[in-house]
Amino acid sequence: MTKHFDVLIVGAGVAGVGMASHLTKECPDLSYAVLERRANVGGTWDLFKYPGIRSDSDMYTFGYGFRPWGGTKVLSDGPGIRQYVEDTAKEYGVFENIRFGRKVLTAKWSTPDTRWTVEALDESTGETETYTATFIVGCTGYYNYDQGYSPEFPGAADFKGQIVHPQHWPEDLDYAGKKVVIIGSGATAITLVPNMADDAEHVTMLQRSPTYIMAVPANDPLSSVLSRTPVPQFLVRRASRLSYITIQRALYDFCRTQPRIAKKLLLTDIRRRVGKNVDMRHFTPSYNPWDQRLCVVPNGDLFKVLKNGKASIETDHIKSFTETGIELKSGKHLEADIIITATGLNVQVLGGVQVEVDGMAVSTHDRVLYKSVMVEGVPNAAIVLGYTNASWTLKTDLAAEWVCRVLNLMRRKGYSQAVAHAKDGDRAEYSLMGGALSSGYIQRGDWAMPRQGTRAPWKAQDNYLLDIPLLRHQSLKDDVLEFSR
Ligand SMILES: Cc1cc2nc3c(=O)[nH]c(=O)nc-3n(C[C@H](O)[C@H](O)[C@H](O)COP(=O)(O)OP(=O)(O)OC[C@H]3O[C@@H](n4cnc5c(N)ncnc54)[C@H](O)[C@@H]3O)c2cc1C
Repeated sequence: MTKHFDVLIVGAGVAGVGMASHLTKECPDLSYAVLERRANVGGTWDLFKYPGIRSDSDMYTFGYGFRPWGGTKVLSDGPGIRQYVEDTAKEYGVFENIRFGRKVLTAKWSTPDTRWTVEALDESTGETETYTATFIVGCTGYYNYDQGYSPEFPGAADFKGQIVHPQHWPEDLDYAGKKVVIIGSGATAITLVPNMADDAEHVTMLQRSPTYIMAVPANDPLSSVLSRTPVPQFLVRRASRLSYITIQRALYDFCRTQPRIAKKLLLTDIRRRVGKNVDMRHFTPSYNPWDQRLCVVPNGDLFKVLKNGKASIETDHIKSFTETGIELKSGKHLEADIIITATGLNVQVLGGVQVEVDGMAVSTHDRVLYKSVMVEGVPNAAIVLGYTNASWTLKTDLAAEWVCRVLNLMRRKGYSQAVAHAKDGDRAEYSLMGGALSSGYIQRGDWAMPRQGTRAPWKAQDNYLLDIPLLRHQSLKDDVLEFSR
């Protein structure tokens, strides 16, 4: 039996629940459903279970603008974020519109019918269901849920201990009293080190190259002070959010325009925290701050375990795994009972959904996004992706608002189709995310990511303050986005 909705959302993570909440608020007359592959909301925050899993963005900007994060904790643990997404879904009546356990396989647009036909697999029964919709929104995040990224390490089969990827964490993993080596230098590795160090015999973080790391206060001074005054809670939340929007952008701009000073300040603070016995080479990347995502650690937790010797860092290359650990190119051998490959994600766009427009397959790699939301040449479809150089949600919130504006205009004027047309020269060679960051996973994912635009309205601005006028206020009518009946 085919089910029809005005809008179909794919994915019930932070972005999908946000999109659905915006629809509830701003397009109350439209019917919608959310198709979610997992059994729960939260996406990333439901999938990752490793010790200490937490945000590395402040929650004041990572939370939704329409339901700001409360409390004084700057970073939240994973379960806290998942709960926040679930509470939002319940408060906005989204929860009952989510069909869990549905993996969307294909989405096919028919111009004569002006509608999408979407095929979803119920992975528990193996049965497929068919949905139709006037508009479709992909909120599937940017990586493959089935398999994390792990390079092939020579000799891996010889290792007698356990090899674990953080994306597939065994909930019963016992590392108490064991020697742990964590391969990686990103947010996941630097979260794992202090969180495993107390129980493990020793934790070694093995990195090929260093990352910029900054200590942030675990509790927000502004909301801590304001919470003790008679200022109403909603104002405290707004004030904290505003302050972090400003701080986040100012820090990013400062790092980009004054890289030498930024580098000096970051390294001086680390030196002060780790003490004299830790080699600063491990914290000194070859690139400038914010060429890749700047990692943060609450109250410098990582630096504390390095200083007290519960953990250490090696900057080296792997020669091969051995029966008892890892042999490095320098000749050193790291003993390990458990090796954790915090080596990243496999980028995937639209959760692997095969998209067709009038029988022609659409490759996201060849397309550019209009206002970084609508795929060129694909009618009535949006992809809601967040920022990589700021909190993801700042952008997904704005993108969702914009989609609601388009839907309301279509409804008011009786349009059945909206499609953005790009011209030659509108697409850059590099990907949408490749302009802002040079991180490995973004380079590996270039094959799948849409292209960056070369000029307005195609060029992703990666700047919340510039995207507010673009997505919230600018007229929907221009010579690029074509509406028709
Ligand atoms: C460990 C980790 C920590 C992170 N920390 C931060 C941070 O601190 N700050 C920040 O800004 N960003 C962070 N990110 C990026 C993070 O992924 C986003 O911030 C955000 O949670 C993504 O939300 P999303 O809803 O867009 O995608 P996701 O969280 O990936 O959710 C996508 C949803 O779509 C579903 N889905 C996918 N394909 C299909 C399909 N074919 N059919 C049906 N459903 C499908 C998935 O099951 C999932 O529920 C982090 C990422 C990781 C992996």
